[in-house]
Amino acid sequence: MPAVELRELIHYPFLPEAQKILASRGISVDSLSKTPSGVQYLDKACTRVICAIDGKTLYPEDTDDAVSDIITYVLGRILVSCINDRMTIQRFVRAEAKRAYTYLTSEQNETLKQRVCVEFGISLDAKKLSVIQYVEMASYLDRDAKWKLINRELSGGFVKISPDELEILLSEKIRFYLGSTLPLKVPVLLARDLQPWTDRISAKVQERTLEEFGAIDESAYPPCIQALIEASAAGANVVHSGRFALVAFLRRIGMPQEQIETIFSRAPGYNADMTEYQVNHILSHEYESMSCATMQTHGVCSHKTKFCESINHPLNYYRKMKKLAERKQQAEERREAAKKRAERDTAAADAVGGAGTSAGAAPEDK
Ligand code: SF4
Repeated sequence: MPAVELRELIHYPFLPEAQKILASRGISVDSLSKTPSGVQYLDKACTRVICAIDGKTLYPEDTDDAVSDIITYVLGRILVSCINDRMTIQRFVRAEAKRAYTYLTSEQNETLKQRVCVEFGISLDAKKLSVIQYVEMASYLDRDAKWKLINRELSGGFVKISPDELEILLSEKIRFYLGSTLPLKVPVLLARDLQPWTDRISAKVQERTLEEFGAIDESAYPPCIQALIEASAAGANVVHSGRFALVAFLRRIGMPQEQIETIFSRAPGYNADMTEYQVNHILSHEYESMSCATMQTHGVCSHKTKFCESINHPLNYYRKMKKLAERKQQAEERREAAKKRAERDTAAADAVGGAGTSAGAAPEDK
């Protein structure tokens, strides 16, 4: 395979060639936070991750420094690994994958395009995929029945795919490729040095969660979550999947860890250290909140209501319920304001009427 130029690697910083450049230039991640240029790289990496958390696939690229974009990619991976929060990692990976995919599909350099495709093990013009390749690429999509293997057209060990489907599958493949090695194991000392940057990213995540879900509203919890809270508070034996579902849900809507632990503290025989350990364990290992289908599989979808029929995720239930409650509240406030206006108008009319009567009565009195 012909070699590719350094500048061309900027759009594909995950290629081994790109990674080798850092090593060959003697750039050591350990000392970056202690040098002015290192701090600049870290700032840029932080911006790159924050752009990803904001759902942007583009970030301010460094056109003056050929290796900067490769370094910030590497540092971005380290920063999200230090945070070790599944949602942050996923957002970072999703943005990087989208970006790589966009560059790849518009890549003019055929050699480079082929090089990247070989790395991902994909072809940009495939019309069919082997069953093994298809299953791997569609594994994160098969919640949608359309992607399930039983619903696909098979022929001679291959699955037929349309150009639109190939696009989606390729994005998934790239996302899987980029995310498969995350989180990285980051040495404690390095993680401590990087804390000023990871704190900035964590604050952004918190801000986004607040924007997405607003202040926590217990009355909007879905029935399954409500039931799990009640069971935990009563000291009932909640299965691991139930505890995980509860912790992941509460964390996703922005509840701080200490507050989550407080929920378990209501249980008889509560052990603070054990609870902290368990909650910490769930938060540091898995973070994605379960969908209704997964909750059902684990037997923790309970007390389903009619409203549940219109959603597929407890988070959607919560979102929708909150919106309904907000609309109700706004309607109530509008009604109150209209009532007060009407009362003011009546009082003003009475005052004018009273004044008019006095003014009109005066001449007769004379
Ligand atoms: S359908 Fe979903 S939201 Fe409703 S109780 Fe089951 S898991 Fe919870």
